[in-house]
Amino acid sequence: MNLLQASGIRRTYGSLQVLKGIDLEVKKGEVVAIVGPSGAGKSTFLHILGTLDRPDEGQVLIEGVNVFTQKDKDLAKFRNEKIGFIFQFHNLLAEFTALENTCMPGYINGLGNEKEIISRGKELLEMLGLSGRMDHLPSQLSGGEQQRVAVARALLNKPSIVLADEPSGNLDSHNALDLHQLFFKLRDDFGQTFVIVTHNEELAEMADRRLVMQDGMMLP
Ligand code: ADP
Ligand code: MG
Repeated sequence: MNLLQASGIRRTYGSLQVLKGIDLEVKKGEVVAIVGPSGAGKSTFLHILGTLDRPDEGQVLIEGVNVFTQKDKDLAKFRNEKIGFIFQFHNLLAEFTALENTCMPGYINGLGNEKEIISRGKELLEMLGLSGRMDHLPSQLSGGEQQRVAVARALLNKPSIVLADEPSGNLDSHNALDLHQLFFKLRDDFGQTFVIVTHNEELAEMADRRLVMQDGMMLP
């Protein structure tokens, strides 16, 4: 069974057809890269895979669950438990420490107790080489460190799939490579599944599959 299966995804904004019927199948432990020009609809598609936006037509199955048949409240819970997000700009909350930011998704649906959440957050930050940075605010961290905190946060709830939109778009090439290697390590060590939208060809070439989106379609 595929971990994720999207079929016939269409999305229109006003008169603009942004997604023109897209299919995607992702197996557990795969790292799938999506490349393509700006405006191709990559972010729109990723938002739909992540249930942040509903398609006009088509369906998304994650671990066999037809996600958009759920009510908004159930969908929000499903999203928080099953899907991790990493964006180009880390979106860490400025007034919270690295550890607090990492732990944030743990508090949303009352998964686990506070002690467990904090211990999981610390474990992740240690694994990502941030043991000495846990009590730092985002402003006290480098760009690469901030993005690793965002990775830790994405992994907190042990998501089935991590969706990343230009995760290294704001990093220099050295930090970008570090981040990419981290994704593959997480795949190799834990079978973590990734769908990554990127302009970074090095990353796209390293991925198990390099898909190209253009003009609202996935090229064959
Ligand atoms: P990409 O990530 O490949 O650059 P996007 O998915 O961001 O592409 O955007 C695809 C097209 O959809 C663009 O023309 C963009 O302007 C349009 N678009 C995206 N989001 C919205 C929105 N919320 N409202 C109207 N148009 C949008
Ligand atoms: Mg985009």
